[in-house]
Amino acid sequence: MPLTLVILGRQGSGKGTQAALVAEHYGVIHISTGDMLRAAVDAGTELGLRAQAVMDAGDLVGDDIMIGIVRERLGAADIQAHGVLLDGFPRTTAQADALAHILGGSGPDVAVNLDVPIAEVTQRMLTRGRADDTEETIARRLELYEAETAPLLDWFEQRGRLAVVDGLGTEDEVFARLCRIIDDI
Ligand code: AMP
Repeated sequence: MPLTLVILGRQGSGKGTQAALVAEHYGVIHISTGDMLRAAVDAGTELGLRAQAVMDAGDLVGDDIMIGIVRERLGAADIQAHGVLLDGFPRTTAQADALAHILGGSGPDVAVNLDVPIAEVTQRMLTRGRADDTEETIARRLELYEAETAPLLDWFEQRGRLAVVDGLGTEDEVFARLCRIIDDI
């Protein structure tokens, strides 16, 4: 199997931008489970109908459903040939266990945590000025992220697969830091 990467990072950390750059540079397929679910909602599929209410409530879609979706996607020929950058998955330790099982061995080659302090991401989100970005909703989303992600950081750390990258600086600077980690694999 070619490169298997996971990217973790708070909302506003620049994760989406960096994920696209990494996928392009290393020729791996960028899989965002949030995008997959939103596409299912837009298409009105059975999955979309089930996921919509959960997503609207800001909750997590069930592990069984998510693991099923990702297992099927990872089995496809493009990913088998080119490798993958997972964005938004795993979100729970059950998903991380399943991912390790699907990939074999101890899981992905590396999980990179794109680290940007809470004060900085809050400022970034406030200045982008989206209607749903008030200080309260931002704080709530960040709190949820912290609660769901902290155990995952431990999970990857315990298996020697966690890398932390400083997400402060220009796009180019952050990308260069990511490349140093990935080139080292
Ligand atoms: P995201 O775009 O990654 O923030 O995902 C948007 C929403 O989709 C999340 O708030 C969850 O409701 C759902 N979602 C995405 N990925 C997962 C996952 N791995 N496990 C559970 N729910 C997910």
